[in-house]
Amino acid sequence: MEQKRLEAFDYEIVRSDRKTLSIEVHHQKVKVRAPKKAPEDWIESFVYQKAKWIARKLVEQAKRDESRLKLIDGQVIHYLGQDRVISVISGPNRITLSNNSLIIQNKELTDESLSKQLDRWLLTQAKAILPSKVEALAEHMGLQRKLSGIRFRKTKTQWGHCTRQGVVQLNQLILLTPMFVIDYLIIHELSHLKHLNHSKRFWSLVQKYCPDYQRAELWLKQHGHSVWY
Ligand SMILES: [Zn+2]
Repeated sequence: MEQKRLEAFDYEIVRSDRKTLSIEVHHQKVKVRAPKKAPEDWIESFVYQKAKWIARKLVEQAKRDESRLKLIDGQVIHYLGQDRVISVISGPNRITLSNNSLIIQNKELTDESLSKQLDRWLLTQAKAILPSKVEALAEHMGLQRKLSGIRFRKTKTQWGHCTRQGVVQLNQLILLTPMFVIDYLIIHELSHLKHLNHSKRFWSLVQKYCPDYQRAELWLKQHGHSVWY
């Protein structure tokens, strides 16, 4: 019998109070969740069975990481509907925006410090720019009475969120998506003020105010990961 050699990868086993095995692939790391006393060979054969799926996920994620936004000289960042070239220079923390450039002046010049600095800057920009846009759209949709607040937060997975209390929360990273996507994301969250689900009624409300919402959804699916840094 011929045995095919599979691409090798390391995996971490996390044991807990559970009955079944499961595999997660995140940030190019493979994690197997297993019951406390699961024998090694059971785990191993499970991983072997799933090896193709794991390998595919790892390749997908590697590609995704490659297309992530890198905060380095010469990289193009799309901000508020326009492409700008990033310049990173040493100096007291300060970000300067012009028509075609975004100059990040940073004391430490480490990846972490640069990304924190851009997070903070985008948050300030979002707070200054987006509330009036959200309020105007809410009024246009006749939902201004239901809107009780607007908040900004960079969460790991969400572009936006709407609470039962009528607070619309947006991720400041939406400023790095095209304008039609920003409009869509706001209309999406505002539509939740009326329908707290993704029902047919919800989508027809979205469509009423954002007729090409499917183009925005597609953009997010295809390019959404490229605005993360
Ligand atoms: Zn939603």
